[in-house]
Amino acid sequence: MTNEHIQEHVNVNSMLPAQKLYDQSEFIPVDPTQEIIFPPELMSLSKQPQRELRFVGERVLWIQPCSLKELLELKATYPNAKLVVGNTEVGIEMKFKNLLYPVILAPAYITELNIIQHTQDGIEVGASVTLTVLGDVLRAAVKKLPAHQTEVFEAVLEQLHWFAGQQIRNVAAVGGNIMTASPISDLNPVFMAAGCKLTVMSKGEKRVLEMDDKFFPGYRKTVLKSEEILLSIEIPYTRKGQYFSAFKQSTRKEDDIAIVTCGMNVLFKEKSNIVQSIRISYGGMAPVTVLATATCNRLLNRQWNEEFLEQACTSLAEDMSLSPSAPGGMVTYRRTLTISLFYKFFLTVQHKLALDLRMEGVILEDVRPEYATATELFQLDSPSSVQLYQAVPPRHNSDDVVGHPMMHISALKHATGEAIYCDDIPCYENELHLALVTSTKAHALIKSIDTSDAMTVPGVVAFISAKDIPGSNLTGPVIYDETVFADDKVTCVGHIVGAIVADTQGHAQRAAKAVKISYEELQPVIVTIQDAIANKSFYQPVRSIERGDVAQGFKDSDHILHGEMHIGGQEHFYLETNCTLAVPRGEDGEMELFVSTQAASKTQALVAKALGVPANRVVCRVKRMGGGFGGKESRSTILSTVVAVAAHTIKRPVRCMLDRDEDMLVTGGRHPFFGHYKVGYMNNGRVVALDVTLYSNAGNSLDLSLSILERALFHMDNCYNIPNIHGTGYMCKTNLPSNSAFRGFGGPQGMMIAESWMSDVALSCGRPAEEVRRINLYKEGDFTPFSQRLDQFTIDRCWEECMQLSDFNKRKEAVEQYNRQHRWTKRGLSIIPTKFGISFTAVFLNQAGALVLVYSDGSVLLTHGGTEMGQGLHTKMVQVASKTLGIPCSKIHITETSTNTVPNTSPTAASASSDLNGMAIYNACQTLLQRLQPYKDKNPKGCWEDWVKAAYFDRVNLSANGFYKTPDLGYDFDTNSGRPFNYFSYGVAISEVEIDCLTGSHKNIHTSIVMDVGKSLNPALDIGQVEGGFMQGLGLFTLEELRYSPDGYLYTRGPGMYKIPSFGDIPIELKVSLLRDAPNEKAIFSSKAVGEPPLFLAASVFYAIKDAITAARAESGLTGPFRLDSPATPERIRNACEDKFTKLCPPADPGTFTPWAVQV
Ligand SMILES: Cc1cc2nc3c(=O)[nH]c(=O)nc-3n(C[C@H](O)[C@H](O)[C@H](O)COP(=O)(O)OP(=O)(O)OC[C@H]3O[C@@H](n4cnc5c(N)ncnc54)[C@H](O)[C@@H]3O)c2cc1C
Repeated sequence: MTNEHIQEHVNVNSMLPAQKLYDQSEFIPVDPTQEIIFPPELMSLSKQPQRELRFVGERVLWIQPCSLKELLELKATYPNAKLVVGNTEVGIEMKFKNLLYPVILAPAYITELNIIQHTQDGIEVGASVTLTVLGDVLRAAVKKLPAHQTEVFEAVLEQLHWFAGQQIRNVAAVGGNIMTASPISDLNPVFMAAGCKLTVMSKGEKRVLEMDDKFFPGYRKTVLKSEEILLSIEIPYTRKGQYFSAFKQSTRKEDDIAIVTCGMNVLFKEKSNIVQSIRISYGGMAPVTVLATATCNRLLNRQWNEEFLEQACTSLAEDMSLSPSAPGGMVTYRRTLTISLFYKFFLTVQHKLALDLRMEGVILEDVRPEYATATELFQLDSPSSVQLYQAVPPRHNSDDVVGHPMMHISALKHATGEAIYCDDIPCYENELHLALVTSTKAHALIKSIDTSDAMTVPGVVAFISAKDIPGSNLTGPVIYDETVFADDKVTCVGHIVGAIVADTQGHAQRAAKAVKISYEELQPVIVTIQDAIANKSFYQPVRSIERGDVAQGFKDSDHILHGEMHIGGQEHFYLETNCTLAVPRGEDGEMELFVSTQAASKTQALVAKALGVPANRVVCRVKRMGGGFGGKESRSTILSTVVAVAAHTIKRPVRCMLDRDEDMLVTGGRHPFFGHYKVGYMNNGRVVALDVTLYSNAGNSLDLSLSILERALFHMDNCYNIPNIHGTGYMCKTNLPSNSAFRGFGGPQGMMIAESWMSDVALSCGRPAEEVRRINLYKEGDFTPFSQRLDQFTIDRCWEECMQLSDFNKRKEAVEQYNRQHRWTKRGLSIIPTKFGISFTAVFLNQAGALVLVYSDGSVLLTHGGTEMGQGLHTKMVQVASKTLGIPCSKIHITETSTNTVPNTSPTAASASSDLNGMAIYNACQTLLQRLQPYKDKNPKGCWEDWVKAAYFDRVNLSANGFYKTPDLGYDFDTNSGRPFNYFSYGVAISEVEIDCLTGSHKNIHTSIVMDVGKSLNPALDIGQVEGGFMQGLGLFTLEELRYSPDGYLYTRGPGMYKIPSFGDIPIELKVSLLRDAPNEKAIFSSKAVGEPPLFLAASVFYAIKDAITAARAESGLTGPFRLDSPATPERIRNACEDKFTKLCPPADPGTFTPWAVQV
């Protein structure tokens, strides 16, 4: 990434940039002599004569032949053998589709399969040529040859640009892409539309085929015989009067598989716009790559004009139809795309034709200027960022680094890979691996479990299930409504039924897949919120908050509107999946656990419960996590208890780190929400009454859903003062894996629905959304619907500063002008505020402990109740201890979080860990300071080490624990009184986006954020949290979509189908500013919580998209509010931009078909 980073640090007394977040001069320059060299032994091997290599595995024979002859002979001997070059397809099939290929032939180094030669008609490329090399070859050709000859090459390059990532392209071969015969291959539609020639060969025969609509006779099939191999492909030159385009539409632009992909090829009769031949090929519209033959035949000999376009679109709509139940879903969108992409081709050709024919003296109409951007290919611009924070004034004590942008204490270890994560712990002797056996049914009785095949897998030691639990099988973080292992009934796909323990992870996983469970299916299967509403399937209690007189408010309103919104769930996608290593200590029921968890004490308690021992026999140790985001607050225990039970039963250490697909399947995620609302408002947009009902999809157990729902209700107002307001919340009990905590904990969902009715009100009264939002904002001293007074309310200041930072007014003018000048791309702008309540709403959790040990050499070992998950908590805690004790950070060390040093810890959650643990540490340090004071007084010129030594020799206790509980907390829903929160964190964001109305893609052009983090403990970490939280929110609101079948099967089980933001999704210009002069007297050293509050600011991107869609809809005469669910994916954006093309592809009537995926 070629970021241009500008970090500015704003001095207290001036606005001049004074210092940078980091000092580049401290970086160690690259030393080229220290580059890793390619092993000389391997280099010398390449000079030796080629010989066949054979690798014999447990189940697979891998042969690398050294000549084409050998390869063909082997293929004749083993006709079912797979040829593997990059293994990017076969590897996936073997790992995730449970396919086994006993013989694999590796032809990567065979000369004939690596040829690259220019022929009379094009370039012939060997089947083993990698995509990177193919790209290099075509780029060189494009540079050298006249433009009219390289239209197909350019199209292949365009596809390669968006094809996977560089690592995949470096190994994946062109032959692999063709022969996989995937219906969403990016290259096959181009090769088919271009009519590429394929040379195939067997031991006795060589033949040349054209890639046409007969080449792929069925799903993932080609016409090659089993003993044949693909030798090469010839990609043709184009000629004058011939035009070619390729398009790929995917959810995320970078490294994503296509939704629809295509190649389009037209040849005109000489010096005319009359079509001589045309070939259009699509991927993503059938089980195979297809040709739109009927349409193409109809278009022959016709002029390339508006009438032609109309006929082409109508014909494509018929030709490219899809069953409403088609696998992959998005049926309306995919159909619309076939036409929209053709329209792009039409305009592109119209433009090129006009230019080319003008040279020949033929005058044709060019593309209208306002349509021109529809012909531009999607580009990613390099992002740049600005980071602003307030410098702390110079102090006497240079050791005091509170307020300084100190680097994360493990940052270098993270970067070099030296940081130790749970699975990096070296294996114990005798250690075993565990794999989960999970349900394939959403709601069923278990009739029988057959482990006979599983037990024959080599290395398998045991199958563990409910009957092995020595203590209680009941578990759950708040109430015990779950089981460690399902005993007779499963209530979701992914429900843990048992576990296989074996000598390796591979054997354990293989055996787990071989366990056969027979079920008796039960009804109803409740998957979606709508199913739950229909079946009245709710957990109790139903919560509500009310203030004012809502009925009267509606009577007093000038207008009333109704609306709905659905917000999809989100996968935590921590880099490190859940991991537990359980080591039985061999006596007294002791068990030591190494866990990647945010909740060490909860893990300890639930493991002790399952093992039937007191908590004092179980130690839970957490060094660090590779991300948690709430996903390891309670759901990590479902794995830890299973692993602990296995270790206890077998009496050997047992380890399990879930693969990504396993983790996504069993651990749940953010709660999807559905809200419907009735809003009463005045002509100027002032909202006077609101009635909102929220439903969350809680899944098959209660977990933390009640607190999450409560937080959603506490945030149903976002930052707006609604005098008469009533909110009700229901938790839907469904047959999905239990949903759980996720950064924001229901708050973002509550606020998102608030912004939906706010946006509807603005659209209804036709006033600028920023003006309507502004007049509804709270003011200092106002009360929330739950009767909490808003003190030190800084939204006003954040708002004004954000307006300035983003240059809002100028930006708005530019957006409006852009939209007047462009029909098929539109820009949108939005400002969104946020107010986030800080505290656990379960009052007892607002406590923390710390243990500070001072050793006689003066070094300090610090332990506290919080866990480190990359957020920098330990760094901030070292800063707090350093400032309090008055010693440099270098003297203080944190080794881990453990239940035998600080007991009864609250999970590291609710953004409150710096507040709580910081105060506990402060408390412990004060105790130590008091004990050291006499020695300081005796020796005022001495140093820390002198005082510590003197105290030690004087037999003073140099260890102290500290404790803190947040004062004055407690809210009562029945009386709507008390304080749920200690204070609020505030922020405002402004975002600008550009949408492509024809494809639904969007670009994040600009975001400015002003965030109130109080007096920042560490601006580098806080800005990191703001940027990271914002990007995670951006994923939530614009990209990430969990897709379930109607019977509760999760399709999206990995990065292949589930897309989190990539570099290209970072706003091209991202400015983050921490609000100046905003000390918060309620938390340690006047700081504020920062982990969760910024996430919601990404809603500014969502509402900027909605603003752009509004502009697009206006072109079709559509005005007023419209429903846009979250995330605003390309599918939703395109479908909302209704136009003449969408009209050709109306959706099927709901209820008349079974969709492939449902909105849960
Ligand atoms: C992360 C990721 C991202 C991806 N992104 C994309 C994408 O954006 N677009 C896309 O289209 N695909 C994508 N793919 C799919 C895959 O990378 C491509 O299909 C790739 O070109 C396969 O090449 P390979 O050499 O790795 O194939 P392999 O896995 O080695 O083989 C694939 C198949 O081709 C057969 N085969 C290979 N060579 C021959 C031959 N000479 N003769 C006969 N049969 C042969 C093999 O037997 C096998 O069936 C992606 C895959 C991954 C893992």
